[in-house]
Amino acid sequence: MPHSYEATHEYARDQDNTDTLFSFRERFLFPQHNGGDVRYFCGNSLGLQPKSVSYLMDRELRDWAKYGVEGHFKAGFPWFSYHHFFAERLGKITGAGKDEVVAMNSLTVNLHLLMLSFYRPQGKRYKILMEAGAFPSDQYAVETQVRMHGYDPDDAIIEITPRNDAYLIADEDITNAILEAGDTLALVLIGGVNYYTGQYFDLENITKAAHKSGAYAGFDLAHAVGNIPLHLHDWNVDFACWCSYKYLNSGPGGVGGAFVHERHGNDPKLFRLGGWWGNDENTRFKMQKGFAPQKGAASWQMSNAPVFNMVAHNASLDIFDKAGITALREKSIALTGYMEFLLQQITHLPFEIITPANPARRGCQLSMLFKERGKEVHEALTQNGIIADWREPNVIRIAPVPLYNTFEDCYRFYEILTGIR
Ligand SMILES: *Cc1c(COP(=O)(O)O)cnc(C)c1O
Repeated sequence: MPHSYEATHEYARDQDNTDTLFSFRERFLFPQHNGGDVRYFCGNSLGLQPKSVSYLMDRELRDWAKYGVEGHFKAGFPWFSYHHFFAERLGKITGAGKDEVVAMNSLTVNLHLLMLSFYRPQGKRYKILMEAGAFPSDQYAVETQVRMHGYDPDDAIIEITPRNDAYLIADEDITNAILEAGDTLALVLIGGVNYYTGQYFDLENITKAAHKSGAYAGFDLAHAVGNIPLHLHDWNVDFACWCSYKYLNSGPGGVGGAFVHERHGNDPKLFRLGGWWGNDENTRFKMQKGFAPQKGAASWQMSNAPVFNMVAHNASLDIFDKAGITALREKSIALTGYMEFLLQQITHLPFEIITPANPARRGCQLSMLFKERGKEVHEALTQNGIIADWREPNVIRIAPVPLYNTFEDCYRFYEILTGIR
C-alpha cells in the first residue's frame, strides 16, 4: 500500500480499484441518505448489518418451528453446541486457542464475572490500576467491585492520567505505576483502545509489568477486537472481554465475548460462579450436586446460549474469517493514514487530531477535538450523508473501517469538511 497520499478524488478511486478487500463492502447493508448509501464512519460504535443475517435468522426460526426442543441437537447449528461454533474464529481474531475464548453474555456482565475470579483482594494486595477516562461502564464496574469487598474506591483505585495537559497516556507511565504499586496491586484493568482518544495501549508490556508486581492483567477490548490483531495467549494476558456490536458487526446488544488464559481456564481451583452451561458437558444433564467446571473459558458460562442473539455474530465472524484480520489491519493502516492525511489538509476549522499519530498505537479510529464549532460541524456532516459520532464534550470520532469503508468515503468526508465555512 502506498503512503504518498494525494487529496484528489482520482487518487482515492485508484486506491479502491486496487484494494483486494473492496468487495467485502457488498456484504453489508448501509443506511440510506437521499437515495444513496451514507458514508458510514461509526463502525466503532455500531457496526453495519451483514446481508446474510436475515437469511440465517430466518433459518434459525424455521429450525425452531420444525424441530421444537429437538433443535438442540437437530438444528443446522445445534443449539446444545451453539457456543462452540464461535471459538475457533474468535480465537483467530484475538490470538487465542479455541478453549480460551467464549461468546457469552454482554461486555459489562463478563467484566463483572471475570473480576469475581481475578479480583480477589487479600491483605495489603487490594488495589486496581486503570487508565483515567475509562468508559463509564468499566468505571462503574470497578467502583462497585471494590465496594463489594469493603474498600473505598478513592483508596483502592489507582488511575493513570496523561501528563500535564496532554490527551494521551504515556505507556511507560502505566508500566512504571504498576511496578511502583508492587505488592499492593491485585489487578491491572485497562481498556485496550481508549474509546475517546483511540489510543491503543501496549498490552504486552502492561501484562509483563502486572505479572512482575504479582498482579493479574485484564483488558476490556471493546474497541480493539476486530480492529487490531491481538495475541492474547502469547502475551500471557490473564483475561479479557469485549462486545461484538462495534467492529464485529453483530448487532445492537449482540453477544459479548471473553478470554481466559488456559493456565487459569484449566485450573478448576480458580473460583468462578457456576451454572449448568459452565459445567462439564458430560455430566451437565445428570442433574447432580457439585459444580464441576469444564475446561477453558467456556466454564464461565452460566446459561445456555441465547441463540437468536448470536446469529449475527455467526454471520459476521464468517466475513472476518474470509477477509482475515491481518489483511484487514494492513488496509486499515493505509485507510486511516489516508483519512489523517486528508484532515491535515484542512486548516479553516478549529480542530486537532488527538489520536496517536503512530499507526502502531492506534486502530482505525481518529478523534477530532474541536476548540469550538464541533457540534455544528457534526450537524453539517450528518446533513450531508455522513454518519460520524459525537462524544461530549467536544470530540467527533470517525472510524474508517477496512471491511466496508473506502478511500473514496474518506475523500468525500474531506470534501464535505472543506465545504463547511
Ligand atoms: C462499548 C463499551 C462498553 C459497553 O458495555 P456493554 O456491557 O456492552 O453495554 C463497555 N466498555 C467499553 C470500554 C466500551 O467501549
